[in-house]
Amino acid sequence: MSVKKKYRVLLAVLAAAVLLCGGGVVYYHGEWWFPALYAMRRLEAPDLNELTLDGARLWTLEELVAQENVTLSNNLLLVNASHPLPEGYTPELIEYNGAKMHPLMRDPYVAMRDDIQARTGVRIYVASDYRTPEEQQEILNSSEEGIAAPLGCSEHEAGLALDVYAPYHAGINVLRSRAGRLLPRVCADYGYIIRYPFGKEEITGISYEPWHVRYVGVPHAEIMTDAGLTMEEYVEALTPGTWYQSGKYQIARLSADALRLPVDFTHCDISPDNTGYYIVTVEL
Ligand SMILES: [Zn+2]
Repeated sequence: MSVKKKYRVLLAVLAAAVLLCGGGVVYYHGEWWFPALYAMRRLEAPDLNELTLDGARLWTLEELVAQENVTLSNNLLLVNASHPLPEGYTPELIEYNGAKMHPLMRDPYVAMRDDIQARTGVRIYVASDYRTPEEQQEILNSSEEGIAAPLGCSEHEAGLALDVYAPYHAGINVLRSRAGRLLPRVCADYGYIIRYPFGKEEITGISYEPWHVRYVGVPHAEIMTDAGLTMEEYVEALTPGTWYQSGKYQIARLSADALRLPVDFTHCDISPDNTGYYIVTVEL
């Protein structure tokens, strides 16, 4: 081999090594590439097809929640800077592994965590759960503006959100772990959403938080995630008084004095949305 040829081979090997190392470094820093790549995924139109009810019965809220097959909870409460928690709001909480959360959230959280661990070999943990107003104030005092929600406007105070981390990777660095990158792809299956997505900061008022998951329940989480809607956009997309079909569910956003529901339902979930309406989710 001539000296010139040897020199070329050496250069090629060096270039390959630099590319490989560089690629490895970039891949490790999931927080650099993952958000934009995930935001560019193919989105679907919201799975909400307008529906005319065959027959309907008008209920009062008291009558409805007294039914055995009706569950009243706060899973669809919109909480943000312009929709603070209702005065005197007392969250319904249970404790799991030291983390306080709404009772509806525990089983789906455990199933989601186990699914992520089975698929990536990495377990996620809860870094922050329910916060008292005092704890939220402390966080506000110690963080820059726009990072934490104002007092009374945090989903943590509602007991409906969890901040998660993977071992050695907390905050934005959760995206350096495969578990953190799988989270936005599977959370909707368990009724959770990434509440503050990348590129939607102007709508949510909160910067991108890939670690903050909010429980809204199925099928709402799936509709929002598949269509790339924030919770603000989702609530807005539900025209008050209109019924929608979404898979096996029927959904409507109704005022308390116009709770017109399908006649024969097997189960009904009802939650105030904090904009003056109730979101009703019915299975026939
Ligand atoms: Zn959070």
